[in-house]
Parts: sequence; structure tokens; C-alpha cells
Amino acid sequence: MEVATPLPGAKAGVIRYTWSVPHDAPAVTALRRIAFLLELAQEPTHRVRAFRRAADVVSALTADELEWRIRQDSLKQLPGIGAVTALAIIEAQRGEAPVYLRRLESTKGRAVADDAAALRAALRGDCHTHSDWSDGGSSILEMAEAARSLGHEYVALTDHSPRLTVARGLSAERLRQQLEEVERLNVKLAPFRILTGIEVDINEDGSLDQEDGLLDRLDIVVASVHSKLRMPREQMTERMMTAVANPLTKVLGHCTGRIVVGRGRPESEFDAEAVFEACARFDVAVEINSRPERLDPPRRLLRLAVEVGCRFAIDTDAHAPGQLDWQMVGCERAAACGVAADTVINTLSASDLVAWADRA
Ligand SMILES: [Zn+2]
Ligand SMILES: [Zn+2]
Repeated sequence: MEVATPLPGAKAGVIRYTWSVPHDAPAVTALRRIAFLLELAQEPTHRVRAFRRAADVVSALTADELEWRIRQDSLKQLPGIGAVTALAIIEAQRGEAPVYLRRLESTKGRAVADDAAALRAALRGDCHTHSDWSDGGSSILEMAEAARSLGHEYVALTDHSPRLTVARGLSAERLRQQLEEVERLNVKLAPFRILTGIEVDINEDGSLDQEDGLLDRLDIVVASVHSKLRMPREQMTERMMTAVANPLTKVLGHCTGRIVVGRGRPESEFDAEAVFEACARFDVAVEINSRPERLDPPRRLLRLAVEVGCRFAIDTDAHAPGQLDWQMVGCERAAACGVAADTVINTLSASDLVAWADRA
């Protein structure tokens, strides 16, 4: 038992004796359980430690102060308590399993498979695909027909931009021709819809590798880093944040650039928290790239993006019709990391997606 200092708001001169928060209080148990599960998922130590520290901070409070701080919404004023831990504490003390904890619990066991299947069923299209106009192997029509046969209502055609010459990136002139071609095909394919788009290179200074006026005409713009992947961390962070802050950018493609097969390629180094916070702020979707050699972002970053409150696009980055069915890979990773269907832009109808992307 501890002697508590009078709580703010308590009558002067009235000394109150209260119990300290018990070690099995719901908030303490929940925070420690979260730390345990993060460890199990091999999350970085600093994330695990943040939850253990929060548990210690809560245990050191009196029961009254904890309740008072919850009522006053002043948990975050305590050192070691941030927005995420505060929310978990409030939910736990209310007698609910914190959302953060439930997401983590769902990563162990069958729930993931069910969630992944539900997520896949909710997808109505794909926001990142290539045709033989750049480095894809098939025509726009073949890609569209394959997407339609998978049950999709739309597919975004996002061929490369001029700078990526190895991938036959489209000049402004060729992209204009492609827009005309898509318009013709859409008449033929309706109600299925090919959304116009691009996978535009993020230049070294963070600008986008295509004319603004042309980017503005497209239904969807995926911006990706394809060059100077080993740029120093600060510069890469600034480069990505500049691209994310550009109102023409709608989706941040394969953010780390890693390759996980063969000789592989390490992740680019950047401040992921800052970049994802910018994505949340500017309402740019973080791509969950389903290509088996990319699987980008890695799970720890995907969890971070969920935590930060980002939107997502679960895409295949297909370069051939058969690859359009890779979305399940992304859905499994998304489900394992707690991505909710209503935060995934390609669960929207084509018109809602275009309206979302069209926001000023
Ligand atoms: Zn790419
Ligand atoms: Zn691509």
C-alpha cells in the first residue's frame, strides 16, 4: 500500500490513501502481453521496450491516479506513454481487449488465414500493373481480360516513366497515346474498367519523372524509387517525403526496394516512421507489393504503417497476366500485420477510388 499525494482536483487538506495499480490490472497485463507478442514476432527491441516501460509506468501509479488520468485524457503527459500505449491502457481499463493487442493475437494461428481470405475477397481491383508498353510481357487488353477473369472490377495500368529506360519507360508522348488506347479499350470492356495510371520514378530530389499536367490527368499515380537505392538515410528520407507531399502522388510503391530472392538487395535506409507519418498526413497509400521477390514493405514496417494510421494498396505489380493472381500473398502479409479492409484503397469501387485519388 502506498500513500498517494492528493490528486489534482481533490479538496485541499483531504489526504487520500489508495492502492497502487495491481500487477494484474488489465492495462498492465495487456501492455506486457503486447510486448511479449512483439518479441515473438521479432520486432525491434525499442518497440518491445516501449510497451514494457509503459507497463512499469502504469504499475507505479495509484489506482486513483490511473482512473483520474484516463478521465482527464492526460495519460500521454506521463513520460514513456505515447498515443498508442495510452489507447491500449484506456481500452484495457474499460474491460476491452485493446485493438493493438487483438491485431497481434490474430497473427498467431488460423485467424490470419481467415482474415487474409476476407481481405482478398474484399479487393475489387489492382492499382499497380505493367503492360508491354513498358517492361510487361502482355498487351493492355490481355492484362485487363485476365484481371476481369479474376473477378476484378478494374485494373490500374501503371507503366514506367521516361527515366527508367531499361524498362522502356513511357515518354509523355507515348503516355498520351496510351491514354487514347485505354479509352478505346474501356468502351469495349465496360463495365470493367482500366484505370489510367503510371508508376512514376521518384527522382533523386524527390520530384516526379513526368509532366505534372499529365500526371494530373491520370486516375492513379504510384510513385516509386528505382535509382540510387543506397542513398544515405537522411537524403533518402527527404527524397521520399518530398514525393509523398506532392499532391499528385497517390500510392508509395515498394518503399524499401528490397529484393528477397537470389542474391537479393538490402532495404533502402530511411526514417520509416517519418515517411509513413507523411503518408498518413497527405493521404498517400502505402503499397503492399505482392511480388514474391519483393514482399515490400517487410512486416515490421507494415506494422509500423498500421500503427501510424496509413492507408494501403494491396498490389501485384504484375508484369504478366498470371502474376495478377499474386494478391493473396499481399493479403496474407496485410492480415498478419493487422491491416483492416477499410484502410485498403482497392477495396473501393472504381469510381470511389478515382474520387479518392482526385482529391485536391
Ligand atoms: Zn517498381
Ligand atoms: Zn512496377
